[in-house]
Amino acid sequence: MALLPVDEALERILEGVEPLAAEKVPLNSAAGRILAAPVEARCTQPPFDASAMDGYAVRATDVATVPAQLTVIGESAAGRRFSGTVGHGEAVRIFTGAPVPPGADTILIQENARLVAEGRIEAVETVAEGCHIRRAGLDFFDGATVLDVGRSLDPPALSLAAAAGHPELAVVGRPLVAIIATGDELVPPGTTPGPDQIVASNSFGIAALAGQDGADILNLGIVPDDRAMIADALSRALSADADLIVTLGGVSVGAHDLVREVLTAQGLELAFWRIAMRPGKPLIFGRLQGSRVLGLPGNPVSSLVCAHLFLRPLIAALSGRSFAPDLRAAELAAPMKANDERRDYVRARAENGPRGLVATPFTVQDSSMLTTLADANALILREPGACASEAGEPCQVLMLR
Ligand code: AMP
Ligand code: MG
Repeated sequence: MALLPVDEALERILEGVEPLAAEKVPLNSAAGRILAAPVEARCTQPPFDASAMDGYAVRATDVATVPAQLTVIGESAAGRRFSGTVGHGEAVRIFTGAPVPPGADTILIQENARLVAEGRIEAVETVAEGCHIRRAGLDFFDGATVLDVGRSLDPPALSLAAAAGHPELAVVGRPLVAIIATGDELVPPGTTPGPDQIVASNSFGIAALAGQDGADILNLGIVPDDRAMIADALSRALSADADLIVTLGGVSVGAHDLVREVLTAQGLELAFWRIAMRPGKPLIFGRLQGSRVLGLPGNPVSSLVCAHLFLRPLIAALSGRSFAPDLRAAELAAPMKANDERRDYVRARAENGPRGLVATPFTVQDSSMLTTLADANALILREPGACASEAGEPCQVLMLR
C-alpha cells in the first residue's frame, strides 16, 4: 500500500463519523458539552414588565413639567409586587426587578426625586414614557428557541438554559477512548526499568490530549508484544464499548510489530496503513466491530504529533464539535533543507516578532525526544518535495498550544 497523504488520511478517518447518541445531563455537569437538541424557553423572561432601576413608578404625564409633587401609595419590590393601581398624581416606590404596577408607565429614578414630606415626593426631572421599564419578553418569550443544536455549552449558554427553565439538557455523548500501550520493553513510570527496558510514556500524553478534548479515557495499560495478549486487550476495549481504541506502538514492519496482524485477524476493516508524513509514517486506521481503531506509532513524538493531527479531529467529530487546526503564517528564523516525499512536521518555537510570528526549528528532530516536543509550541509544516528555504522566508505553522 502506498503512503497516504495526510489530508486524505484525515478525510478517511472522518468519513461517516456521526455525533454519538445524546444523553441527559444536569446543568451542573453540562459545561463544555454540545447540545444534541435545541433549547426552547419554558417561560417568558422577564415574565412581567419590570423596573430596571430603583425609584418610583409614575405616569409620564404627571411629571411632564417639573417640579411636580406626587403621593406615594405603596411599594413594589423584587419578589413582592404592589397589588393596587397607580392613579393620577400618585407614585409607587419601586426597586430593580420589581413588577411595574398597572397605571404607571414610567420609572422616575430615585436620584431625580426628593422626599418633601412623609408619603410625598417631588420629581425634579421629566421622564419619557416607558423609561427604565423592561418589557415582558424583552429577553425571550415562552416557546422561543434560545439555543440551537450543536451549540457548545459555554458559561452564557448555561445561564441562558437555566433562565429558560431547563434543569438538565440533552447533550452529545462523550466518546470513550481506550488506550493500549504495546511493547515488551515498556515498564510503567516509577518502576525501575530492567537493562533492556524503557519507561512507557505515551499513554499519559495521549490520555491528557483526549481528555482535554472531552473524551472519557479507559487506560488498558501496557501489553507485551504477544498476539494473544494484544487480542485480549482489544476485546477488553470492545466489551467496555469504547468508541475509539488507540493502540500505541507495534504498527511498523518489525518482526515484533504485531498490532496490525492481530487487528487484521480480529476482522479490522482497514482504511489505511502508513502515511506520507514525518514523524509517524506507520499509522493504522480502521473499524473493528462497533468501534474505530487508531494505531499510532510508538515513538513518543510521533504518537503525540499524530494524535494532534488525527485523534483530536476524530474526537471532535464524535462529540458533535467542529475542529479547525490552529494553522498560522510565520517567518522562518533559520534555513531548512529540501524535503522528500513525506510532509514534515518540524518541532519549533513560534514567537511574535516585529513583522508577525517567527518560527525557530529545533536542530535535532529525533522522534523519540520528548524534551524538544515539550519545548515546542508549534510545528513547521514542510510540504512533500518542498525546496530548501532560507531564513526570512514565509512558512506555515501548526500551533500546539
Ligand atoms: P514501535 O512503534 O513499537 O516500533 O516503537 C517505536 C519506538 O517507540 C521504540 O523505541 C519503542 O520502545 C518506543 N515506544 C513504544 N511505545 C512506547 C510508549 N508507550 N512509551 C514510550 N516509548 C514507546
Ligand atoms: Mg514496539
